[in-house]
Amino acid sequence: MESQHSSGPNPLCEVGRTHPRDRHRMRPVAGEPGVWECPKHGLFAQVVAKEMADRIERGDPFPMHNGREGIAGRTGDERPGGIILYYRPTTE
Ligand SMILES: [Zn+2]
Repeated sequence: MESQHSSGPNPLCEVGRTHPRDRHRMRPVAGEPGVWECPKHGLFAQVVAKEMADRIERGDPFPMHNGREGIAGRTGDERPGGIILYYRPTTE
C-alpha cells in the first residue's frame, strides 16, 4: 500500500494512535523535511535515529526543529533510518 522511502506517508497524529475514533494524519512542515505537525493538537513529529529514541523518555526535554524547547512524547512507526518521535512545545 504505502511505499517506504525517506519521507514516507504522513504519520498518524499521536492523539489518533491512542484514540482510534480520532485517527487523522499529520502534515509536513514547510521547509522542514522529515518534520510533521498537527495544528489541531499542537503536536509535532520527526524521524530520529533508533538509538536516540531509545535514550529519550516520554516527558524528556527535546529540542524542536525550530530551535525552541520541546517535550518528547511517545514513538510511532518505524521509518527507514529511524523511528517517528512525537513532541510538543513546552507551554511555559
Ligand atoms: Zn492531532
